[in-house]
Amino acid sequence: MEEGKRAMRALTPTALRSVSPLPKSGEGRPKAGERAATQSHDSTTNSSRTRNVLRFKNSLHHIFWRNTMIDLTGKVALVTGGSRGIGRAIALQLAALGADVAVNYQGNARAAQETVDAIHALGRKSISVQADVRSAEAVEAMIKQVTQELGNLHILVNNAGITRDGLMMRMKEEDWDMVLDTNLKGAFNVIKAAQRALIKGRYGRIVNITSIAGVSGNAGQSNYASAKAGMIGLTKSVAKELGSRGITCNAVAPGFVPTDLTATLPEELVQEAVRHTPLGRLGTSEDVAKAVAFLASDAAEFITGQVLNVDGGMIF
Ligand code: NAP
Repeated sequence: MEEGKRAMRALTPTALRSVSPLPKSGEGRPKAGERAATQSHDSTTNSSRTRNVLRFKNSLHHIFWRNTMIDLTGKVALVTGGSRGIGRAIALQLAALGADVAVNYQGNARAAQETVDAIHALGRKSISVQADVRSAEAVEAMIKQVTQELGNLHILVNNAGITRDGLMMRMKEEDWDMVLDTNLKGAFNVIKAAQRALIKGRYGRIVNITSIAGVSGNAGQSNYASAKAGMIGLTKSVAKELGSRGITCNAVAPGFVPTDLTATLPEELVQEAVRHTPLGRLGTSEDVAKAVAFLASDAAEFITGQVLNVDGGMIF
């Protein structure tokens, strides 16, 4: 409470006056012999102080406005699994904000090309890049291709992901391996291969798409929840390793979003998800994309190692 009052006081014009810089021209600046007159608050000094306060306030407003505007012009982004679903929405959102975007896919070349065409229609450069994120070799080649064709990399979104659901008792080892290799090792492979390019670009934003299943677990998804929880550990570790190089690393944890990935889930389960969501609806790919764009921007320059749930309040 006391802290709150102190913070409010810090925002009053009196406080602004005490930190407001004196104008360079000397306008309003008291000369040695005039100090007494200044202390008596004559009207001329008051009006120049007011101008200083306003000037300071305006400069604050300017900084705030500029930093909250998300402008990714001149940035190059790579979105893994950008051919469909959430990844496609992320690729389009980043492009709509000015970035050139490489769209990675595994096997669906046509869908990847559709994303690329939509980005071109937004007036941005884009290429599709085939690579299985499970393969370190393929990922290295992908990063090389992206930097050669679009220029240095600034934004990396690890979105490629799959599910192979089943209760522990019945889960096959290959389903465990496949999900861990794609979701977790895939993100590791891409960050490892991309980090030099990100450092070189002097602007690094890594956003990993995890899931609320990785935050709170989910029956029938031990492989997926483990991979997504692992991504959170990866996010925090990378944030600590690369922070000194000006690279942030954060995770976005979507709730239930209708895509190909969730298309086979029974309607009853979907309705159950809505019932447990305070905002009363399912998420959309665009909801997730907006959060990613924020974390990829200047507006989030002092945020790293965080997990941002985009789930309508389903878990907190
Ligand atoms: P989706 O529609 O099934 O799309 C999956 C994307 O990942 C596709 O672009 C696919 O490429 C790509 N992909 C899969 N395996 C790959 C591999 N080995 N190498 C490279 N790319 C690969 O899934 P989504 O729902 O948009 O999910 C996107 C991300 O959000 C995933 O990480 C998922 O876990 C996460 N997520 C989703 C939800 C949800 O409710 N949908 C909730 C929480 C988190 P192709 O097109 O070439 O197959």
